[in-house]
Amino acid sequence: MKTRRNFLQAAGLSAVALSLPSFPGYAALSKSEPLSKNSQDRVLRVAIMGLGSYGTRVAEAMQDCKRAKLVGVISGTPSKVETWKSKYGIPDKNCYNYENFDAIKDNPDIDVVYVITPNALHKDQVIRVAKAGKHVICEKPMAVNAADGQAMVDACKAAGVFFLIGYRMHFEANTLEVVRMRKAGEFGEIKFFQGLSGFRIGDPTQWRLNPALSGGGAMMDIGIYSINGARYMTGEEPIWVTAQEVKTDPVKFKEGIDETITFQMGFPSGVIASCLSTYSMNNLDKFFLNGTQGFAEMQPSTGYGPIEGRTHKGPLGKPHVTHQTTQMDAMAAIILDGAQPEIPVDGEEGVKDMKIIDAIFEAVKTGKKVSLV
Ligand code: NDP
Repeated sequence: MKTRRNFLQAAGLSAVALSLPSFPGYAALSKSEPLSKNSQDRVLRVAIMGLGSYGTRVAEAMQDCKRAKLVGVISGTPSKVETWKSKYGIPDKNCYNYENFDAIKDNPDIDVVYVITPNALHKDQVIRVAKAGKHVICEKPMAVNAADGQAMVDACKAAGVFFLIGYRMHFEANTLEVVRMRKAGEFGEIKFFQGLSGFRIGDPTQWRLNPALSGGGAMMDIGIYSINGARYMTGEEPIWVTAQEVKTDPVKFKEGIDETITFQMGFPSGVIASCLSTYSMNNLDKFFLNGTQGFAEMQPSTGYGPIEGRTHKGPLGKPHVTHQTTQMDAMAAIILDGAQPEIPVDGEEGVKDMKIIDAIFEAVKTGKKVSLV
């Protein structure tokens, strides 16, 4: 049987990676979740909003969680609700739809809502959940631009609830090992990051290719992994971006839906990053970090795993644990115990990525270098 310590070791999370007890920038834990001496025995009770492809993956992964449990759903599809109720033993009283879910405020058996719907819906849904007094986890991209992301952060702060973004790679063991090595100076002075993120998208009628629901194309969906990865791999925030777009199929990738964007970022120390985001190429999931004394390369670097790679010291060999299982147990520790992750997953972290995406779109439009400071 897995103990909490075994779980943390398998996940590559140490007491440092999830250190207690403060979580700056947030009010005390909500009324429904008082921080108590025994909080490490508590289980986070989760309702998933949006029972689609990724929501299903999260629900399955949570079955192996020690500290997070699926207890409720919010869905617009009654047939899915019936299936989930019987599969996961969810009671009727914990099932909501998009019209009535504000009533979750009167449900003491749900601690947090995990929003896993199309991107453009996140803002209103997150704000409604926060106003209902429940903690919120929201999928990436948190919103369709930085202003909306900031409004979500502000609403959650005003409501005194935690707001976390579903950045599962922030808890992945091999990723954390590279970050540890970088912090320990094992790569020397970091000089360069390369991120390649893409896949070939299918069905042209899906919401990902509808700007009203997606807020953008490959960049919002998959390019964000290279942006976020550049930040946690280098440990710096970019100060400028340049970007170029290529569109080979303007019918499938209509106005407002980027197909392929190459972009570059500059960081305060002089580190540069060169990245590719695309909906037109498969087998594109690679990070490369170069320093004066070593390197790390990961391929795959952000897929569902196992994450594989090597550094100048040899192969990365941390065991694979289903990312969403690790993420949800770690998020339970953040919300219930006030643990601090090694790489932040709060709403502000999401806004940083959204500001960079806004700047990349501006750079594509203007052809100019866009400053981020
Ligand atoms: P899906 O289309 O598979 O599912 C989205 C679900 O949202 C639908 O099944 C539906 O659930 C609900 N929904 C509510 N309103 C709408 C609407 N107008 N149109 C379509 N669906 C609607 O998408 P994904 O699960 O792949 O993606 C959802 C979110 O998760 C996105 O933000 C995406 O970026 C993110 N994601 C994150 C991943 C990660 O690795 N972190 C991986 C994949 C996605 P219902 O019928 O129950 O209402």
